[in-house]
Amino acid sequence: MNLVLMGLPGAGKGTQAEKIVAKYNIPHISTGDMFRSAIKEGTELGIKAKSFMDKGALVPDEVTIGIVRERLSKEDCEKGFLLDGFPRTVAQAEALEYMLADLGKKIDYVINIDVDSDILMERLTGRRICKNCGATYHLVFNPPSQEGICDRCGGELYQRADDNADTVQNRLDVNIQQTKPLLNFYEEKGYLRNINGQQDINIVFTAIDELLGGLQ
Ligand SMILES: [Zn+2]
Repeated sequence: MNLVLMGLPGAGKGTQAEKIVAKYNIPHISTGDMFRSAIKEGTELGIKAKSFMDKGALVPDEVTIGIVRERLSKEDCEKGFLLDGFPRTVAQAEALEYMLADLGKKIDYVINIDVDSDILMERLTGRRICKNCGATYHLVFNPPSQEGICDRCGGELYQRADDNADTVQNRLDVNIQQTKPLLNFYEEKGYLRNINGQQDINIVFTAIDELLGGLQ
């Protein structure tokens, strides 16, 4: 069960990743975790990656791809894996194809959790935080009983700068632009499966589960 998980910010990728790995017992391989453990283990590529990250520079593709390869070669990936956050570009996706072929593997599905951007906007801009106690609310999913006031301590609620509409819209636009060629690439390969992410979390997982059940 070799999977790639995709979805825009706010699509619920993290939640679904947790459910997939819990049910199917495959490792969740996120780029961040992979870098952290390569650095911790002090592998040659980990040291290289760290030298770029320390400078605040982007880790070059050849290093990232090498780290992915090391990770996918490990024993716990024998039954499968869930890649999350890699690949980000068509060049990385092509490298992944070669790498997997070399390891005698192939991708089964690229699962894309699909949510309209106006719904993502609503999800991502609705967060409010208490100035006083730090409690978090969401205008739609977990609203305070009195507008702008913390239920717990009566403190004033505010919106983080990261969560404001312009910032979120910009982040979504950048992500959509970056993801489009990758989705096309996987569509042409026949791996892409779009899952409707505009439903209850458990219903989204049921749809994924039905798809994955066919692999067993
Ligand atoms: Zn409070």
